[in-house]
Amino acid sequence: MMKPYAHEPFTDFSKKENQAAFLEGLKKVESYLGETYDLIIGGKRVETNDKIVSINPANKEEVIGYVGKATKEHAEEAMQVALKAFETWRKSKPEMRAEILFKAAHIVRNRKHEFSALLVKEAGKPWHEADADIAEGIDFMEYYGRQMLELKDGAPVLSRPGENNTYGYIPLGVGVTIPPWNFAFAIMVGTTVAPIVTGNTVLLKPASATPVIAAKFVEVLEEAGLPAGVVNYIPGSGSEIGDYLVDHPKTRFISFTGSREVGTRIYERASIVHPEQIWLKRVIAEMGGKDTIVVDSDADLELAAESIVKSAFGFAGQKCSACSRAVIVEDMYDKVLNRVVELTKELIVGDPAKRETFVGPVIDQAAFDKITKYIEIGKQEGKLIVGGTGDDSKGYFVQPTVFADLDPEARIMQEEIFGPVVAFTKAKSFEEAIEIANNTEYGLTGSVISNNRYNIEKAKEDFHVGNLYINRGCTGAIVGYQPFGGFNMSGTDSKAGGPDYLLLHMQAKSIAEQF
Ligand code: GLU
Repeated sequence: MMKPYAHEPFTDFSKKENQAAFLEGLKKVESYLGETYDLIIGGKRVETNDKIVSINPANKEEVIGYVGKATKEHAEEAMQVALKAFETWRKSKPEMRAEILFKAAHIVRNRKHEFSALLVKEAGKPWHEADADIAEGIDFMEYYGRQMLELKDGAPVLSRPGENNTYGYIPLGVGVTIPPWNFAFAIMVGTTVAPIVTGNTVLLKPASATPVIAAKFVEVLEEAGLPAGVVNYIPGSGSEIGDYLVDHPKTRFISFTGSREVGTRIYERASIVHPEQIWLKRVIAEMGGKDTIVVDSDADLELAAESIVKSAFGFAGQKCSACSRAVIVEDMYDKVLNRVVELTKELIVGDPAKRETFVGPVIDQAAFDKITKYIEIGKQEGKLIVGGTGDDSKGYFVQPTVFADLDPEARIMQEEIFGPVVAFTKAKSFEEAIEIANNTEYGLTGSVISNNRYNIEKAKEDFHVGNLYINRGCTGAIVGYQPFGGFNMSGTDSKAGGPDYLLLHMQAKSIAEQF
């Protein structure tokens, strides 16, 4: 019997043997820095003239790898291969597809620290964040594999005498997977394996900042026995091949995670029906957030401050779940702010390859420029309390930054910064705090720190976010425990790692047979 799903435990890095194992992982990754990764189309390695250069955001000089850059011709070739592969893959047994996911999970588990170390280098993730990212990728495989086994026989419908009715799920076709760089393993894995375990074939266009970890994963899928052509690896630019594939009449669905700007663009483009297109494309989009931690007047001070600091500055605030707004009921305001400032000053900022680092670099120059621009805006709009500086000489480092006394309508209270910046606002009452928290176009995550049962119940009803947390931080959803995805401009309301997610990649077929 198969073991029931349970999430992959995080590594305890206070243990010497785990530290040593992680350092081994880093050594292993260092041994292959600077290698070249070709496109993979129908299992074949395809060399390209142009290359994407993946660098270490903590040290711009360090090249992680050179990765093939697909042209429109490559994208078209990959589409034809994926269409052909779909004809056989769609009929493959769900059990076999699930088995491939379990095997791939096993392979990654065996090389866990190497994969985490690659994220340290390529994404700038500190150890514990990298470890959690890899664990989540493993979780997606274990969870979706099991979900497929539950869905394989469809759902019950009634039959009548003389008529046998069935209701089953069939795949959609070729999907385009466009994952982000911030969960360069977990979300890339989740949005690749959900389509394939449900019988679709995939064109995987990894994030240009983190294409090497994706190449390594495609190799794992091959090792796990995934037939050629089911997943095709085609890194490239959004404007060249992204648009081309989104517009393609044979694209059946698009799974995107990333910025609101790109997500809405994909959504709009995908709605156009092109000549020879015989379906309406489906878009699964997970976009931004402007996530709030609300602190009630009777809250546990230490819990509130720790939750804000961890949620705001974990992975340098580069999570769509990150806390970028702290709304504090007035009698607690000064206390929480002071404690957050104390904790923020203790954070170690620096090279993510060092175990003690809590805040590593931001991903690239564009992110650095955007965040520092918002820090300047914040200085106009509120009071800078701590941080507020950056240094992009070696890597892209931004100090964890706290602003106080913001108007809820201020730009830094409304616009997604995607960096280590949190803004504080005072509320007169808990009701007002929830109103301020809801005053955003997004609706992804939110936390309430409170010991007041009425207020907790009120938040459950009125705080309009896809992932609400009570008395804990607002990041770190676990596959199968807290299905993840938000409302409003945060996306298409999908819930990754949840019981309905696979259905987004399938269509239901009702068959009635009379006899
Ligand atoms: N699932 C992650 C979390 O709960 C965030 C995912 C993202 O940033 O896209 O923190």
